[in-house]
Amino acid sequence: MPRIKIHIPDDITLRIREALIESGQHECGGIVMGEHVGHEEFRVSDLTIQRKGGTISRFVRAVASFVSSLAAFFDRTNHRYRQFNYLGEWHSHPLFALQPSNDDFVSMREIVDDPEVGANFVILILVRLNNDQVEGKVWSLLPGGAFNEAEVIRNGAHYERQ
Ligand SMILES: [Zn+2]
Repeated sequence: MPRIKIHIPDDITLRIREALIESGQHECGGIVMGEHVGHEEFRVSDLTIQRKGGTISRFVRAVASFVSSLAAFFDRTNHRYRQFNYLGEWHSHPLFALQPSNDDFVSMREIVDDPEVGANFVILILVRLNNDQVEGKVWSLLPGGAFNEAEVIRNGAHYERQ
């Protein structure tokens, strides 16, 4: 499978950085919403930040924490789901390498294999602080597949083309 490209705008990186600073050695994370900008190419438009539920080694996501954010994103982008949709999840690995854990694999497989989610693929963004700067790796997963590392492109202004 070709490598998926993920653009991460600077304002998203800044929000992640703040969450990482606040959470310290506890994991934090949430869902990732994005825009399809080219062949196998996506830009992160928004994300939710959940601080509760993080332990040192594991991040437990609370469904109630993101349903309204996702609905608001769909409203804002006029329900053009082919262009703007749920992309996946992000969370921090403050004390571990930016490799998906076995739990990460199990939970992401549940999401990508869930017919109600209806995703062709999902991404998992893993982040941590390194000298106060955000270090991240993005992994993509197809139904029935294994994690593939995506190409990360960091860039400037974040916008949603209407
Ligand atoms: Zn993890």
